[in-house]
Amino acid sequence: RIVFLNGSFLPIEEAKVPFMDRGFMFGDGVYEGVGVLEGRLVDNDAHLERLERSLREVRIPNPYTRAEWTHLEEELVRRNGVTEGFVYFQVTRGVAERDFMFPENAVPTVAMFTQVKAILDAPAARTGIAVVTVPDLRWKRRDIKSLNLLAQVLAKQAAREAGAQEAWMVEDGFVTEGGSSSGFIITREGRVVVRPLSNAILPGITRKALLALSKDAGIELEERLFTVDEAYDAAEAFLTSASMFVVPIVSIDGRAIGNGKPGPITKKLRDIYIRMATAPRMA
Ligand code: PLP
Repeated sequence: RIVFLNGSFLPIEEAKVPFMDRGFMFGDGVYEGVGVLEGRLVDNDAHLERLERSLREVRIPNPYTRAEWTHLEEELVRRNGVTEGFVYFQVTRGVAERDFMFPENAVPTVAMFTQVKAILDAPAARTGIAVVTVPDLRWKRRDIKSLNLLAQVLAKQAAREAGAQEAWMVEDGFVTEGGSSSGFIITREGRVVVRPLSNAILPGITRKALLALSKDAGIELEERLFTVDEAYDAAEAFLTSASMFVVPIVSIDGRAIGNGKPGPITKKLRDIYIRMATAPRMA
C-alpha cells in the first residue's frame, strides 16, 4: 500500500510522522475525503475548495495549488489501483516543540492515503442503516473540517454499541448532522428537508451536489432545522457523504422510519447522484 507524505510516495510502513507533529499533539490540522468511482475522483474541485477554506479559517498555509492537489490525489489512486473507494488527505500545522501558539517557520505536514471500499454495491445502500441520536458535544466551528474528531469517535462508537451504523447528533432538540455524514428527512408530504448551512454543521459536498441535482429533477427541497420527533415521524430518511453517496436510513433510535425499508425518493436521489458521479465529464 502506497501513501503520500510530505512530497513523497512511499510504502505505508515507511511513512513516519515526527513525535512533535501538532496534528498528533493538538489535532492542529484539517482534512478532506473524496470518493473514487471508476478510478476517478468524484466532485474533487468542491472538496478542494472546502479544504482551502478550512486551511484559511485555521490559518495554516495551503502547501499546494488546486492542480497540484488533484495531481497528487490522482497519482495515489493510480498507484494503489483504486477503482472504487476513498482518498483521504490532511494538513497539520507541522512539527514544533509543544506550545499552543503558532510556531514560527513550521512546515505543514501533508499526509494522504487511499482506501478501497464498495460504494455502488455497498450493503448499507441496499438494506438501509440504523441510526441512533446522541447529544452533539462538538465545538462551535463545525463548518471547519478539523482533525479534532473525539466527539464523533464517541458518537459513532455509541451507535455501534447500540447496533446502529451512524449517530445523528442533536443540539437543542434539533438534529445537526451525522457523525460523518449529512442528515436528511423526507416528510410525509414528500418534501426533502436538510439543515441549513451555518457554523453548526460541516458544509457537506455531497449534500451540496444533491441539492442542486434534486432541484433539477423537480424534487421539492427545504433547508430548515428539524427535530428528532419530526425525524421519527418522517416518511423516509437518508444520509450523504463522499464515501457513501446517498444511503437510506430505515430506523432511528429503534423506531422504524416509514415502513422500515429504503424509501422511493431516497432511491431516486441515490440514482441521480450516481448518474452525476459516473457521467463522462466528471473528473
Ligand atoms: N458531516 C460531517 C460531520 C462529516 O464528517 C462529513 C464527512 O466526512 C459529512 C458531513 C459529509 O460531507 P461530504 O459529503 O463532504 O463527505
